[in-house]
Amino acid sequence: MAKLLEGKIIAAQLKDILLKKIQASGKKLRLTSVQVGENPSADVYVKSQRKNAELLGIEFDLQQLDKFTSEPKLVEFIQGLNRDPKTNGIILQMPLPLHIDYKRISGYIAPEKDVEGVNPANMGRLVFGTGKVIPCTAAAAMELLNSTGVKLEGKEAVIVGHSEIVGKPLALMLLDKLATVSVCHIGTSKAGKLEEHVRAAEVLIVAVGKAGLIKGEWIRPGAIVIDIGINRVADKIVGDVEFDAAEQKASWITPVPGGVGPLTVVMLMRNLVDCSL
Ligand code: NAD
Repeated sequence: MAKLLEGKIIAAQLKDILLKKIQASGKKLRLTSVQVGENPSADVYVKSQRKNAELLGIEFDLQQLDKFTSEPKLVEFIQGLNRDPKTNGIILQMPLPLHIDYKRISGYIAPEKDVEGVNPANMGRLVFGTGKVIPCTAAAAMELLNSTGVKLEGKEAVIVGHSEIVGKPLALMLLDKLATVSVCHIGTSKAGKLEEHVRAAEVLIVAVGKAGLIKGEWIRPGAIVIDIGINRVADKIVGDVEFDAAEQKASWITPVPGGVGPLTVVMLMRNLVDCSL
């Protein structure tokens, strides 16, 4: 039976360290969140970001822009925040309206205020292994892996999902640990090869958003399983891995909810502290 990797326990320890660092600095930090238009799913994240920031004595400044804000106007707004000495970090809330190109906009957030690690300069530093700010969900997954104390060198690490904020940065970080990394995605499934990759995984990280995609019986005995997926099924939140069956075979497994989620927002605060102090 697997041991649980509970993000909230590590999150509490990290928050304590961050609080002490902020207090010792004597500085007043401000995190500015930019939201274009209204979106109930973003509201949940904003609420959690505000709560965590305020617990650490960080001022949380929500800037709500009209849903018709043009891309040039948004760029101008972000550039204003880049110049504002009182703003230490900038978050651009997802999803953005369809007329705004997120990849283009993320390049306008000053790298030193880019607390989500989405500016191409920060993404690029990940390739060199010198990234100061790492996309928060990927950083949270690494933090959980590190907490197991298991050496990753030489391990077969399989990531399912190749998004810019999760799968791709994780692949780079695991390579830096000298794991042997495979990245699976929709193409892997379409080719009918997902199961064989998952069965080989000593470390399995899944970030897709499809409940039950990873069958419990596929889990290699003793594997570490990090499930990042968030799915609502019959009023319950579940991950992408069949938890009950996977728990029987893995050595460590994240619960969903309560695994990666609670740590992600703390990684945001850590990025802010690393950018500002
Ligand atoms: P995304 O939507 O950008 O990408 C999905 C990935 O899944 C792609 O690589 C795609 O190729 C792959 N995929 C889709 N169908 C597949 C299939 N049948 N087989 C194999 N791969 C398949 O994803 P994202 O933004 O990285 O989010 C992924 C999941 O992680 C979502 O459930 C999201 O809610 C969750 N998430 C959780 C946190 C957290 O803090 N816990 C943060 C971010 C995202």
